[in-house]
Amino acid sequence: MITKESIDNLKNHLEIVDVISQSLELKKSGANFKACCPFHGEDTPSFVVSPAKQIYHCFGCGVGGDAIKFIMEYEKLAYPEAIEKLASMYNVTLSYDDNNKPKQDLKVLDSINQYFIKLFANNNVAKDYIKSRGISEFSIEKFEIGYAPKSFETINYLKNNYLNLADAKELGVIDSGENGLYSRFIERITFPIYGLNSKIVGFGGRTITGHSAKYINSPQTKIFNKSKLLYGYNIAKENIYKRNRIIVTEGYLDVIMLHQAGFNTAVATLGTALTKDHLPLLRRGEPKVIVAYDGDKAGLNAAFKASVMLSQSEFEGGVVIFGNGMDPADMVKEGKVEELNKVFSNPQAFISYAIDYIVAKYNINDPIQKQKALQEANEYLKSLSILYQDEYKRYLAQKLNIRENLVKISTQSRRKVENSSTKIDIAELSIIKAILEKPSRLDYVLDMVDSEIFDYHKEQFELLISDIHDSSLNGILLNERLEDYDDERLKKEICILLSKYYSSKLNTLLYDKTLDFKKKSNEIRKLKDKIFQLKQGKMVTYN
Ligand SMILES: [Zn+2]
Repeated sequence: MITKESIDNLKNHLEIVDVISQSLELKKSGANFKACCPFHGEDTPSFVVSPAKQIYHCFGCGVGGDAIKFIMEYEKLAYPEAIEKLASMYNVTLSYDDNNKPKQDLKVLDSINQYFIKLFANNNVAKDYIKSRGISEFSIEKFEIGYAPKSFETINYLKNNYLNLADAKELGVIDSGENGLYSRFIERITFPIYGLNSKIVGFGGRTITGHSAKYINSPQTKIFNKSKLLYGYNIAKENIYKRNRIIVTEGYLDVIMLHQAGFNTAVATLGTALTKDHLPLLRRGEPKVIVAYDGDKAGLNAAFKASVMLSQSEFEGGVVIFGNGMDPADMVKEGKVEELNKVFSNPQAFISYAIDYIVAKYNINDPIQKQKALQEANEYLKSLSILYQDEYKRYLAQKLNIRENLVKISTQSRRKVENSSTKIDIAELSIIKAILEKPSRLDYVLDMVDSEIFDYHKEQFELLISDIHDSSLNGILLNERLEDYDDERLKKEICILLSKYYSSKLNTLLYDKTLDFKKKSNEIRKLKDKIFQLKQGKMVTYN
């Protein structure tokens, strides 16, 4: 683990404007800097960077934090990786303490991978299978193709090399059943799967001895989340950035064969469909996304779902479907590289693919079916930006052979609808801001108020009490519409807020018919006294 001292040392070297301006174009705006937010689509900048406070915050989507947090979010890195990246950017040396668990973890996966690789080299059945698929010696090495032996052999290997069995179990290499420990990969060709930190996080395995599941993956573990990762990303990464393209396929062999043929931006999902969890990774480097799936029913449907999701998230790119029972690996094997080149440069746009898919489900010669197709396609179109809706209503109308004005598009932008509901109260927010500016004020304020007195921003005030450094409060800190209070003004504003609170309490009390007379008049007297004192600018304790 990286020592705390060296992280603190690094932090002293960081200047947030410098860090962020290496990725975004920042424009000066008063005491702060502004940019269009990289984390949500927008045309007017609401992403603010404060050099004074060394934080950033987006008023559009609410993200925010310090320089390290920015690198984590923008580069999609884990905390230690972000630290390492910044350290190398600023030439700061980090120190590590060595007896940490994560390193032990990775050692198990690394050494089991080396073991599998060695076994593969000595296993003719495995080698013959891989060669029969057209995979070259070079690719075998590059993708570290291995072979997992019989269960007891793997267990013995772990034991003989004094590897931590508990770690091996936790990382999904082995598991325990009725008859003790067993290997999760038995007589399978293995493909190591790398995480974003370029370390092995799991394996994929293909049987060559007829085990029931053709392909299996490591189970979900604390370091392996298969719905976030893509096979081959570690190898494709640099080229994805360079060529602004990523080819998403369905299988390990597709990835390996495409790379072999020079399509070095190919990756694959890990036995799952593309999900929202994949989007941050796909977004890295803003590449065009090519979804390259088989032409069977499952492939077509998966491509449809991916198209809907990617178009709604406004990704560029499109769909390539392989017909005649071929997959990308077969195409490479048969030498159809030119053809691949052509189809990858000319994918069908996500939106037109999705519309075609919807329309193809119905028999549009039947007016009733046609109506249904229109309805479904309309619903989908409405989930897109206005520009796309306008662009594709013509396409849909032609597809259904109807008049364009029958395609109803939504006139309101989606984002505006999402944002309109939250009400803000300047007086309450200004008090919260004053405390954020000077946290030592919190004790003093808490003597007088409780979160109850906040009508609109109770939640934020409670967050302030529980964690004053929570990054979601940065929006308040950077809100230029809020005045900066000195201690005197803060006290005055709290008096005003309290007297408002007690007045409304008094009002409810006056109309309360359940209290007995004596108690009620006693309470009323107390409240009136409080309000009187507050109006004179005198503090009263909250109760
Ligand atoms: Zn944003």
